[in-house]
Amino acid sequence: MTQPSAHFESKEYNAAIKVIEVLRDHAHIAYLAGGCVRDLLLGEEPKDFDVATDANPAEIQGYFRKTASVGAAFGVMLVRDFGPTIELATFRSDGVYSDARRPDSIEFSSPNEDAKRRDFTINALFYDPFAPGHDRVIDFVGGLDDIHNRILRAVGVPEDRLAEDHLRALRAVRFAAKYKLTIGDRTKTAIREHARELSGVSIERIGEEVRKMLMHPSRVQACEMIDELDLDDAIFGDRKGFDPSVMQGLGEQASYAEGLAALAIGRGFEIDDDISAICSLYRKTLDLSNGDRDELRWILQSLWNFFKCWDRMGEAQQKRLASGPVTAQALQVLRAMDHARADVIVDEIEVLSGRFGGLCPNPFISGADLIEIGLAPGPSFKAILDAVYNEQLEGRVESKPQARAFVQTQTTNEL
Ligand code: ATP
Ligand code: MG
Repeated sequence: MTQPSAHFESKEYNAAIKVIEVLRDHAHIAYLAGGCVRDLLLGEEPKDFDVATDANPAEIQGYFRKTASVGAAFGVMLVRDFGPTIELATFRSDGVYSDARRPDSIEFSSPNEDAKRRDFTINALFYDPFAPGHDRVIDFVGGLDDIHNRILRAVGVPEDRLAEDHLRALRAVRFAAKYKLTIGDRTKTAIREHARELSGVSIERIGEEVRKMLMHPSRVQACEMIDELDLDDAIFGDRKGFDPSVMQGLGEQASYAEGLAALAIGRGFEIDDDISAICSLYRKTLDLSNGDRDELRWILQSLWNFFKCWDRMGEAQQKRLASGPVTAQALQVLRAMDHARADVIVDEIEVLSGRFGGLCPNPFISGADLIEIGLAPGPSFKAILDAVYNEQLEGRVESKPQARAFVQTQTTNEL
């Protein structure tokens, strides 16, 4: 396990190797660095292949044709000469952190110094693809042993490293959960000590970490660790504990919104509670997009409907609920909450889908038909179309002429 698979190949990997080759041809040091080395050693497929080098950004621009500078202050370049974009960073050491977010200054330096500025030992390894088999992994911080022993440890003095950048507390949880690692004792203590200060980190960065945690099958472990390490207070502004039972019932590939709903329920949200309030809280603390917030709202609303209203809904209402944009997700969460209830609803939806054109047939008529009938366009259109569509869903209107006739009777009656 100490060496990445020799057979590993992907377009990204090959592009990164070519970047390294060019740098070596110019007598520079260049290694694969960070997350990709960790993933290769753990047998996971890396998301991207970052390269670290002793060439500086100006030199890099001279060696490659398609470069772009990102994070110029950190000496990070993108290289696109070989297809996929490869991030190429100059070895650096970080200056002091005065804002607990990012260093005030950086200095280009050696591989050893570069390893020391990284957060966790497992993230601080380099890989030299051109070295002889045994010497490919370059380890200045004991990361290889930690990978073998499945331990997550901060590089250097944990107290200092967690004080420098408070987001590392959440990164620790994410990596420990995802790779099934135990967090080292000192690192754990340091996380607890600095947990409160997480509230000083931007909600964008917190939200991004929580999103990654909830999108991964290890979401339950991550949420349990957040609770255990007292990070929940810092994220949500309250301590509610975490009951994992609903989240445990989600599928591995559960969506972010399903994860959020299960998190809310695990932290004590009950189906009768104020849905808007919980959605606003998560939007505010996790920087949810409008889309994510709406999905969370619809899931919670659908759950409420499935538990509290379904049995007294008419067929049209049931069909509308069953064909909503997040119904599939809501049913997953429902199943995790109450298997028997989910079975009942799913069976009934199955029956509904075989009746009168199915769950969401194309409407027989539209606004254009109403105009043709002689109605003046206006706000009442939606109510009329809704009413006639309900008739269609319940089988009382079975064709376009019948739909038009229904509208005509309705509107004449109203006059
Ligand atoms: P992922 O698979 O989630 O992308 P990653 O390890 O690649 O994991 P990135 O956020 O892409 O994580 O960062 C790349 C590397 O940069 C890390 O492996 C780590 O060495 C370093 N790094 C990232 N964030 C920090 C941080 N907050 N403090 C110190 N080093 C960091
Ligand atoms: Mg990465």
